[in-house]
Amino acid sequence: MFKGILIDKQDDAYRVQLTDIDESSLPQGDVGIDVQYSSLNYKDALAISGKSPVVRRFPMVPGIDFVGTVSDSAHPDYQVGDAVVLNGWGVGETHWGGLAQKARVKGDWLVPLPTTFEPQQAMAIGTAGYTAMLCVMALERQGVAPDKGDILVTGAAGGVGSVAIAVLSKLGYKVIALSGRVEETDFLKQLGASEIIPREELDKPGRPLGKERWAGVVDVVGSHVLANACAHTNYGGVVTACGLAGGMDFPATVAPFILRGVTLVGVDSVMCPRERRLEAWRRLEQDLDVSKLTNIATEIGLTEVTDAADELLAGRIRGRRIVDVNR
Ligand code: NDP
Repeated sequence: MFKGILIDKQDDAYRVQLTDIDESSLPQGDVGIDVQYSSLNYKDALAISGKSPVVRRFPMVPGIDFVGTVSDSAHPDYQVGDAVVLNGWGVGETHWGGLAQKARVKGDWLVPLPTTFEPQQAMAIGTAGYTAMLCVMALERQGVAPDKGDILVTGAAGGVGSVAIAVLSKLGYKVIALSGRVEETDFLKQLGASEIIPREELDKPGRPLGKERWAGVVDVVGSHVLANACAHTNYGGVVTACGLAGGMDFPATVAPFILRGVTLVGVDSVMCPRERRLEAWRRLEQDLDVSKLTNIATEIGLTEVTDAADELLAGRIRGRRIVDVNR
């Protein structure tokens, strides 16, 4: 038996409990993992709250990421004792996830724990931080560089936002942070933001085009914020869209794209091909100042996950929550 969070739905009753689970109930997969840490991502909070149909099969162990050691393996790349990380692939949605002491997955979904990171640090980064890196890589692929102009990071005090700021500032960008929490100004500046602008500046319907303000955008919010972020992007600039914390809609016009040649790039971490994942983790080793992770992440145990999920959806969590599944 092992401890884990189990979500069940019967008729209309959605039930989330921390419980003992029989190892024989684990899903199929060629690698077994003793999980050390998982983390709480926006999608996990949605899954736990039942507010959005993230969970596609019941019962489900949530947790879209984890770090742990291999306990058994029939996969040629992994041996017992190897340290591994998992992000996405539907884990925590269609396949049992990381908010439990044990997991069983396809070895092809795993990546080796980067040697620079302790297990806790890998989950301080987690899917949010790995997605932030995918956004930075997407900006670079489209030709954005520090001498081209500033970068706007939205949802700045959250998981993706905080890691994006830390990475971009280390790379030499001037980062403008959009946040609904002025009280987090010191935190955002410590991460490397040069300027903080209040969320109200961008979260209402705006004009099709506005003053050119930034060369690139990392957007986690969607809706009016994304539309306005595009409208203020410099000629030839690049907007990466990875989130929907403010809404799934995109009430924009084509003006920034056809009059300023702005590029909008979608970023998905879940089905991201293996080579790009490995590159993202390599780049995190290189371009993230790990000392900033102490500021970004706070550790909790499995018993605290449900409350933390409510806090996260209410926009009250700063940075990231690492979950020690053995605490
Ligand atoms: P967090 O909850 O940690 O951060 C989201 C931040 O967005 C909040 O901290 C807040 O920042 C801001 N925010 C919250 N609600 C609103 C609102 N109503 N309007 C405007 N801003 C708001 O979540 P994550 O950083 O983990 O994830 C952010 C988004 O990215 C989510 O939508 C998530 O699903 C998505 N995501 C997508 C991935 C992908 O593969 N495409 C992978 C990972 C995440 P502040 O208080 O500073 O304004």
